[in-house]
Amino acid sequence: MWSSGARALLCVWKVRFAGFPGRSLLSTNAASGKSKARQCWNCGSAGSVESGDGFFCEHCRALQPPDPTRDYFSLMNCHRSFKVDIVKLKHRYHQLQCLIHPDFFSQKSQTEKHLSEKHSALLNDAYKTLQAPLSRGLYLLKLQGIEIPEGTDHGTDSQFLVEIMEINEKLAHAQSEAAIEEIKSTVRAKKKEFTDNVNRAFEQGDFEKAKEILTKMKYFSNIEEKIQLSKNPL
Ligand SMILES: [Zn+2]
Repeated sequence: MWSSGARALLCVWKVRFAGFPGRSLLSTNAASGKSKARQCWNCGSAGSVESGDGFFCEHCRALQPPDPTRDYFSLMNCHRSFKVDIVKLKHRYHQLQCLIHPDFFSQKSQTEKHLSEKHSALLNDAYKTLQAPLSRGLYLLKLQGIEIPEGTDHGTDSQFLVEIMEINEKLAHAQSEAAIEEIKSTVRAKKKEFTDNVNRAFEQGDFEKAKEILTKMKYFSNIEEKIQLSKNPL
């Protein structure tokens, strides 16, 4: 998501003026990312990784491996809930990119280069997953040990399936931009409705209900993809 050199330079500037990477930007963010004491792979200091932000060794400042005990919510400094502040999420994403983007490790050891790539991939995944309501909801369920297998309709009611079939049918025969726009607005309204309902289900701790709604959301997400493809055929 970040490749431009100019952005990377701006990032370096921000980090340098903010102080040492890792400390100033993240010192207040470490609370949600509790992890067990780990030993630095570079200098061997035990426990030094835990006391800081978890990304760099406190002693030698070497970049450390991603913490496997940390989930995406903790990494992105969000509460583990369906409601996420998207502006804050984006801000956190850029903040972390400023610390771990591989561009900043080109002069470092192979190990650190490799680790920055791992961190960066993880960060991109976390950001993408938490950004969209559907993937965020599915991830929350996964953390509860609930998964929706691909291709399952999970007891989706037949009335809903008919509705989906009709929308697909309309899309297949849509000849004009206006016809596609109409379908898009139906999908948007449904997404909004589902997002509100799934939020309520999570707030009430009703994971079965959340699963049911997210299964339905998947159908609408597929329709969105089809609309996108009809605009930009491969
Ligand atoms: Zn160290």
